[in-house]
Amino acid sequence: MKQNKREHLSLLYDVSELSALVSDSKDIDAFLQQVVQSVASHLHADVGSIYLLDDNSGELVLKATQGLNPTSVDRIRMRIGEGLVGVTMARMEPLCDGAACDNPNFKFFEEAHEEPYTSFLSVPIHRGIEKIGVLVVQHRQPDYFDDADVMALRAIAAQLAGIVANVKLMIGLRKPAKTAWPQTLPGELRFIKGKASAAGFALAPAMALKHGDPLMGDAPDDTFQSSAQGYRQSLQATIGQLKQLQEQLVLRLPESAALIFDAHYMILKDPRFDRQILDLIGQGLHAATAVRQVARQFITLFEDNANPYIREKSQDIEDLARRILFNLRKEKGEGRSPMDGHIVIASQLYPSDVLKLASENVAGIILVNGGTTSHVAIMARSLQIPMIICQRGELLQLPADTQILMDADLGNIYLDPSEQVRRQFAERNRVREQTAGEAVRMQPQTFTADGTRVHLLANINLLSELTVAQDLKAEGVGLYRSEFPFIVRSVLPSEEEQRLVYERLFKQMADRPVCVRTLDIGGEKVLPYLNLPQEANPELGLRSIRFLLKHRDVFDQQLRAILRAGAHSEQLSIMFPMISSLDEFEAARQAVDEAIADLSRERLEHHPKPAIGTMIEMPSVLAIIDELATAADFFAIGTNDFIQYMLAVDRGNESVAGYYQPFHPAILRALARIVEAADRYAKPLSVCGETAHDPEFLPFLIGIGVRRLSADPIFLPLVQRTVGAIDLDRARSYAQELLAAATLRQVETARAKWQPLFRPQA
Ligand code: PEP
Ligand code: MG
Repeated sequence: MKQNKREHLSLLYDVSELSALVSDSKDIDAFLQQVVQSVASHLHADVGSIYLLDDNSGELVLKATQGLNPTSVDRIRMRIGEGLVGVTMARMEPLCDGAACDNPNFKFFEEAHEEPYTSFLSVPIHRGIEKIGVLVVQHRQPDYFDDADVMALRAIAAQLAGIVANVKLMIGLRKPAKTAWPQTLPGELRFIKGKASAAGFALAPAMALKHGDPLMGDAPDDTFQSSAQGYRQSLQATIGQLKQLQEQLVLRLPESAALIFDAHYMILKDPRFDRQILDLIGQGLHAATAVRQVARQFITLFEDNANPYIREKSQDIEDLARRILFNLRKEKGEGRSPMDGHIVIASQLYPSDVLKLASENVAGIILVNGGTTSHVAIMARSLQIPMIICQRGELLQLPADTQILMDADLGNIYLDPSEQVRRQFAERNRVREQTAGEAVRMQPQTFTADGTRVHLLANINLLSELTVAQDLKAEGVGLYRSEFPFIVRSVLPSEEEQRLVYERLFKQMADRPVCVRTLDIGGEKVLPYLNLPQEANPELGLRSIRFLLKHRDVFDQQLRAILRAGAHSEQLSIMFPMISSLDEFEAARQAVDEAIADLSRERLEHHPKPAIGTMIEMPSVLAIIDELATAADFFAIGTNDFIQYMLAVDRGNESVAGYYQPFHPAILRALARIVEAADRYAKPLSVCGETAHDPEFLPFLIGIGVRRLSADPIFLPLVQRTVGAIDLDRARSYAQELLAAATLRQVETARAKWQPLFRPQA
């Protein structure tokens, strides 16, 4: 008998009851079991199952079932896209099939005893774009489930999402770390190849940022002090350390005037936190257990919050608890924080997280599981923290303090390195330091081998990089990424605060040109405090200039701050990111005109007429390049995004990295066309994406006529050396040959022939 709508409604009610159960329940498995039982019984299904996404392995794991073989729990695993369950998660939509065994995506698991169940209905469990798991019901009778069932199960999944996300969190917190890593690592686990993202070397103990780390879960309690007094002391020590970290951060990063550790302070100020811990200790609980228990309660509370900014702060609670526990240890050991001097392994980081890590003196960062990372890498480079990205989620399970040697010049990771590897590392490090010394001997001007002048400018993300840019004789700032002062704060900086930041920028660069790019947020560069709705496809969403044109107040404030700060700057230029049409460019330019008019009316000192340019990052501008060259005062090609959008390949997604081809014929021809248009209209043009410092790409850029390059300051010596070895006539012929090539293969052949001719002498 099929259920009716009424029963669906009563099911919703029952499930909401379960939310109370989860907070009381100590046994998560029992909770999940109850969920699947109630779902199956209300939908009159023979089978009810729940799969949760394991963030470490990226697999969907069967966590509870009513109807399938119970011993298959935890054993049936599918990757996203694999089997009907994996397809549901991949598509993020319900899947209803009345004859599931015939479905080409059906995956047979012998141990599940699933054969008799012909009808299959699954829905994804998700919160916004966060994937949590899949809920499944099955029935013996073919074509059993109908549209009403789909709707009902979907509603249940939506209702369950928050609770189940917390269950996932609790599983992570309670479960002892997996012992996937043997105590002594066999040879094949000792070397991992990743992608070099921020250069440098580090030899240091590992610290994985994950739930269930040694401080939060595994360590036997007798390593900690147990008393209330011990707890109070560790709390005071933690408060002192946080204060110190904040002070150091402000010195190192003048942009970060606001509190980076605001959530930590918020919790420390909450009397419930301290009181509950002391109460529990008073009742006889060990201090470490009390800290963990109360922290978990707070984490659950934050995780349940509707505001994603607050939800994200749950990580900060764990971090705070970890710090208190670190100070509660009987044997104090090394370092002033759990991360101090460690190589941190994490599965996801935002640019602002990198700031926190920098303030803790981490030795390096290894990011596992891909994800969007390009600006995290930019941030790591700005802060000179070596960083490698790799696809090895199991690194998160590495025993704490395993020695790691990371060579982030090459992307090599050595776990528990042998004496010989260590010796090689020391030698390479010595040579590297020597050559770094040589590199600093920069010439103030840069020429090709035959004497053609090429201007080298700096990309600046953080004000602290200006000194490096000056030391390395940058001729100006070709790209100031103005979003970083916004990223490091916890509220939007005011016009006045922004003005102070830009003033430092102009003052330090004195009479040299400075090009400020207006706010380029969105995509990976999130400002959580804006609490914007989540987008399924943020790289194609309301980002960058689109965001500014929609939020004119934010745009106007920034423009006013730039114009006021640059009042006396002789060579101020402003450019807009992600321009996709002439109309957009004109609208943005008009905003500048209006800001100037307003400032004049208000009699506030300001720059009267900055050069206004556009970044070239979108394929659409190719079709209107002539008109754009007429309208804009200059072009800056952002090859990072240009390649991403031309080839429709996420620049931060490791799994499609193979498609990210700067040497794709379409990219080469498009670049040549843009440069040619800029020349024809006598408009200055620069390249400021990563290709501007790529020794392999530079001969082509020079060959098509690029004469202004803007790169991260640390790359300037390399760029000067590379340009110095390029003969212009030769570069032109090489570029012509590449432009004639229609396939990647032909490009490869031409490169193989020409590249050795452009290599600087060692
Ligand atoms: C680019 O897209 O090439 C660029 C310079 O901008 P960003 O890397 O900040 O997106
Ligand atoms: Mg860009």
